[in-house]
Amino acid sequence: MTASKLENVKDWIYICARCNSCKFIFRDYRECCPAGNYYMFEPYWASGKALMARGILEGSLEWSDTVAEKVFSCILCGNCEYQCEQDIGDHLIDIFEALRMEAIQQGYGPMPAHEKFKEAVKQQHNPYNGNHSERFTAHWLESHVKDQAEIMYFVGCTGAYREREVVRHTVSLLEKMDIDFGILKDEYCCGSPLLTTGQIKEARDVATHNVNLITESGASVVLTSCAGCYRTLAKEYPERLGMNLPFKVMHFSEFLETNLSKLNISKPAGGRLEVTYHDPCHLARHGGIYEAPRNVLKKLPGIELVEMGRNRENAWCCGAGAGVKSAFKDFAIETAKERVREAVQTGTSTLVTCCPFCERNIGDAIKNMASEIRLIDLSSLVDELAR
Ligand code: SF4
Ligand code: SF4
Repeated sequence: MTASKLENVKDWIYICARCNSCKFIFRDYRECCPAGNYYMFEPYWASGKALMARGILEGSLEWSDTVAEKVFSCILCGNCEYQCEQDIGDHLIDIFEALRMEAIQQGYGPMPAHEKFKEAVKQQHNPYNGNHSERFTAHWLESHVKDQAEIMYFVGCTGAYREREVVRHTVSLLEKMDIDFGILKDEYCCGSPLLTTGQIKEARDVATHNVNLITESGASVVLTSCAGCYRTLAKEYPERLGMNLPFKVMHFSEFLETNLSKLNISKPAGGRLEVTYHDPCHLARHGGIYEAPRNVLKKLPGIELVEMGRNRENAWCCGAGAGVKSAFKDFAIETAKERVREAVQTGTSTLVTCCPFCERNIGDAIKNMASEIRLIDLSSLVDELAR
């Protein structure tokens, strides 16, 4: 009999004091958990999932489709980890990931939508099932495809197949900064959608392919536009998959922060623009990058940053990650709408983020609400102002 995945996280599961601090922002009492807030039922909050894990371990709760649905209805945004003051706090995501792996092991996962993108990654190396041979079909992109380069730009699937404007502006900025960089022709999905939905073997396959390819290219630096790609390459490959990386991974906001002086930047039309900034969970809570995008915004002439009420570690998630956008569409869009409302409350006209996947879900919410707020990626904003 295969050992329960929950045995590895058992010590932490029993620390949960059921104090409910993971339901609200510390000393603030605004909601922090999109899953609990949307479903309004205990098993969707972190404390409820910890209790379900305990029940499964002790045999008082059996796996069923209902249990699995609750396990997968979580964005793994990590806000609960930040709010929890107990020692379990740093390990809530470990528990949720173990629950997902266990659900699959017991035949109650992956969700049909997650199974679908697993097959797409196997066949076409991206979760959108776009043709792999068309990943970089744009003359401004194809011209940078190289086998060898000191700096490699890892484009990512959302940038390649859904939010190509982010990629176009990133490439444009690298050209304006006169950076010699390459794009890997045979780049595969980083594996983030597989890792977050408990499909570890398949994630390891694409990770191995990508690491071998980047290593053969001789690159010392890998740049990503996508927060999910950043976290997966920089943190998950070494920490979760145990891979040694002979290169450094940088999110493009970090690269911009150190290279902004290479650009000639003008003020926005009208001389002044107030913007607000959405922290992508993969970049911020999971990646530890809070200040680089803010520092870039603060250095732009005429740009004024107005923070949303919930920002940095307390930021409300966009609602897209961990397979939620594909499997639980209403939950994903309602979560993004909450973020749009919060951005509108700042009184700014523009919402900046630096993750194409956040942009995709927040963009869908803006359309759904017919909101007039403008949504833009940090690289697109900088490129519009740079000559
Ligand atoms: S997960 Fe942490 S904050 Fe939530 S109930 Fe348990 S101990 Fe309290
Ligand atoms: S990871 Fe996010 S959605 Fe999941 S339980 Fe924690 S706060 Fe809620």
